[in-house]
Amino acid sequence: MKDAIETDILVIGGGMAGIGFAAALGEGRKVLVLEQERDLAYHSTGRSAAIYIRNYGNGPIRALNEASGPMFKAESEYFPHPLLTPRGILYIADGARAHEIGKLAATSVGVEEISADAAIAKVPLLSPYYVKAAAFEADAQDIDVHALHQGWLKKAKGQGASVLTGQEVLRAERANGSWQVETMDHQITANLIVNAAGAWADELARRCNVAPVGLQPLRRSMAVLPVPNGYDAAHWPLVDEVTEDFYFKPDGGRLFVSPCDEDPVDPHDAFADDMVLAEGLHRFEQAVNMEVTRVERSWAGLRTFAPDRSPVVGFDGGTEGFFWLAGQGGYGIQTAPALSKFAAELAENRTPELHHLVEPLSPTRFNEGN
Ligand SMILES: Cc1cc2nc3c(=O)[nH]c(=O)nc-3n(C[C@H](O)[C@H](O)[C@H](O)COP(=O)(O)OP(=O)(O)OC[C@H]3O[C@@H](n4cnc5c(N)ncnc54)[C@H](O)[C@@H]3O)c2cc1C
Repeated sequence: MKDAIETDILVIGGGMAGIGFAAALGEGRKVLVLEQERDLAYHSTGRSAAIYIRNYGNGPIRALNEASGPMFKAESEYFPHPLLTPRGILYIADGARAHEIGKLAATSVGVEEISADAAIAKVPLLSPYYVKAAAFEADAQDIDVHALHQGWLKKAKGQGASVLTGQEVLRAERANGSWQVETMDHQITANLIVNAAGAWADELARRCNVAPVGLQPLRRSMAVLPVPNGYDAAHWPLVDEVTEDFYFKPDGGRLFVSPCDEDPVDPHDAFADDMVLAEGLHRFEQAVNMEVTRVERSWAGLRTFAPDRSPVVGFDGGTEGFFWLAGQGGYGIQTAPALSKFAAELAENRTPELHHLVEPLSPTRFNEGN
C-alpha cells in the first residue's frame, strides 16, 4: 500500500529550477518537491561552470540575465555571503577568427576590444602565436551555485514546502480536476504539476500523457588540469575562444577546461567522452604555452535546449494543470533568479514583471498552427 499525500503544487525536479521555483512561490500554498535521486542538485545543477555572463545567449536569455544580475544580491537572510564574485571573461581569437571579436563587441553590452598583448598580460599562459584579437567583459562573475541552491531550499522549507528525495515520478493521470501521481512509495494528489525535470522534462511530460515540446539534452564536458608551475591563476578571468571552440577558467588552484561539446544524447547520468575531451584539449593546447600531460578528473552534464534555445515556461496548451519550467540550456543558473520569479508569477496567474517574455517562452509556441 503506497503512502497517500495531498498537495496543491507538485514540483518535479530538485535542481536549481525546481528549488528556485518553490522559493519564489512565497507562503500560502501547499508545495511538495519530488526528486528522483537521493541528493538534490545531482544532475545539471551540480555540474555547471558556475559563471554569470550577461552577454551569453539569445535575446530572451539576455533579458533574463540582465534581470537576474541585481537579484543575486538580494535576500541576505538566506545568502549571508555574496553569491557573485568578480571573474571577468576574456574572449580570444586566432588570426582566422579575429573578425568575430569586433562582431561580438558590437552586439554586446560592456564588452571592450583589447589588444592581444593586453590579453596575454591578463593571462600569461596564452600563446602570442595564437591570440590575434581579444575582448574583455569585466562584469562576468563566478556564482556560488551551492549557496544559491541551499539558500532557496531553506527559504522554500521555511515557507512550508516539503521535499522528498529518492522518489521518481513513474506516471501521472489527470482526472476530475486533479492529478494522481505515482512514485515507488507514494500516491500523490495534486492540483498543479510543475515540470522542472531538466533533461527528463519531455520524458516526464510523456509519463503525464502530455505532448513533449521537443527538448534535446546536449552533453557538455569538463577536464580538470593542474595549473602549470610558475603561474598564479587565481585572478585570471574565464578565457573563451570567441566561437566557443573551448573555454577555461581557474578554480581552486586548478584549471577547468571545456571542449564546449554539444553532443545530443538521451537523458542519463552523464559522463565525459574521452575522445571529445582529447580533441577539445588539443584545441586548448594550440592557444596556450602548455602541454596537457595529466587530466586529474573530468565530468559531464546535460544542457537541455528547446529548438529555439529559449526556455519553456508556462501552462501547457493541451493539458490543464501542467506547467513547464524546462529548457534552460547552458544558462539555468545565471537566469535562475529572474526565471524562478517569472515562473511563479505565471503559475499563480499573476502578470509577470517580465511580461514581454510570456510569448517567447510559452510552451504553446511549439503547438501546431503557431
Ligand atoms: C558543463 C556545464 C556547464 C554549465 N555552466 C553553466 C554556467 O556557467 N552558468 C549557467 O547559468 N548554467 C550553466 N549550465 C547549465 C545549468 O547547469 C542548467 O541549465 C541548470 O542546472 C538546469 O537546472 P534544472 O533544475 O533544470 O536541471 P537539473 O539540475 O538537472 O534538475 C532536474 C532534476 O529533475 C530530476 N528528475 C527528472 N525526472 C524526474 C522524475 N521523473 N521524478 C523525479 N525527479 C526527476 C532529476 O533527477 C534532476 O535532479 C551548465 C551546464 C553544464 C552541464
